[in-house]
Amino acid sequence: MLVFSLYTKPHDSGRLFYYVMSMVETALFLVSFYTFKKKKFSNAALNASYLIFVSSLLIFCMFVYAIDRSPFIVRFLLVFLNFQIIFVINIFAIATVNVLIALIFFLVNKYSMLIGIDMPDNGIFDVYNIALSSLICITLNWYSSHVIVRGMITSNSLKKERNRFLSDSIHDQLTGLNNRRSFEQSVNFYTSVCRHVHQTVCVIMMDVDFFKNYNDFYGHLKGDAVLQAIGRILKDLAEEDKVYVARVGGEEFIVLWTENRMLEAERVALKLRQKIIDLQIPHAKSSVAPYVTASFGLYFMRGGSTDSAEELYDCADIALYKAKEAGRNRIMLFDSAGRSCRPVELRSPDDLIR
Ligand code: GH3
Ligand code: MG
Ligand code: MG
Repeated sequence: MLVFSLYTKPHDSGRLFYYVMSMVETALFLVSFYTFKKKKFSNAALNASYLIFVSSLLIFCMFVYAIDRSPFIVRFLLVFLNFQIIFVINIFAIATVNVLIALIFFLVNKYSMLIGIDMPDNGIFDVYNIALSSLICITLNWYSSHVIVRGMITSNSLKKERNRFLSDSIHDQLTGLNNRRSFEQSVNFYTSVCRHVHQTVCVIMMDVDFFKNYNDFYGHLKGDAVLQAIGRILKDLAEEDKVYVARVGGEEFIVLWTENRMLEAERVALKLRQKIIDLQIPHAKSSVAPYVTASFGLYFMRGGSTDSAEELYDCADIALYKAKEAGRNRIMLFDSAGRSCRPVELRSPDDLIR
């Protein structure tokens, strides 16, 4: 109908093309219509709607090009208006507006002589032409454009939801650090890669001292704030020293990185301990210091070692236990060769600076 309404000349060379176009447009329209009604916004439906929208625009261009019987600006404004109001009012209102416009055209054409407007000969045909083509165009576009918009919103929000879900599954809610699940994935990667490339995997296991006392005395909310402050320090450390950090338990954290120079690895642990001390969060119920402190277990897994990720974790845990036993607020290094621990201590303030 659109084709006939626009191209009435019997020997138009492009007629076949317009037939094909209108058939494709009708098929795509059915897809858009079905999608809109059934609310099944699949990728295929979305692509079909894009196509219909583009082909409608193409038809609109042909429509403007084909105009030779009525004022250009009137047709242009009519169709332009159709495209504008697609998103504002519903399809029945759009159809009514179009019928009204067509009626006005009809009346103006019919009584043009009475009101002093000089219309072309085939003015009446033009009225049907405009009414039909614009009605078809906007009906097609109403569905396709709404499917596009809804489809885009749906696929974008689904994508966002999926990313958020993936991110939530490996991050700890309270501190925003990596969680235990993430650590388990990373530690396997670190141990297997470093084993093959002969790099040392360094691990620090850290546990806040007398944290139960802190919670009991200051309340759970204040306890959460401490964990968040420690989380921020760990994030900074991850940034500055390119290490991996995770919260693996209530007040237990892990740092994981590769470093072959032992002194350099010790420096990271010393720096972390100092940063927590520098927070100077009052802790009246700690018997080691008047502020919040933590204990650290440090372990190096030498390149080529056949230790598993669990053994790495266990060795760091033994070192942490020894640090607690030795009085807390300190770092113990587990030596896998001698199966013994030794304290890591600050030799000079320069140790904290790279
Ligand atoms: P230690 O010096 O030996 O580590 O003593 P501790 O009191 O820190 O150790 P313990 O394991 O007995 O207590 C850990 C406490 O951590 C218990 C719990 O109240 C607290 N905790 C665990 N998870 C959270 C949390 O998400 N928020 C808060 N506020 N506290 C937590
Ligand atoms: Mg603990
Ligand atoms: Mg603790």
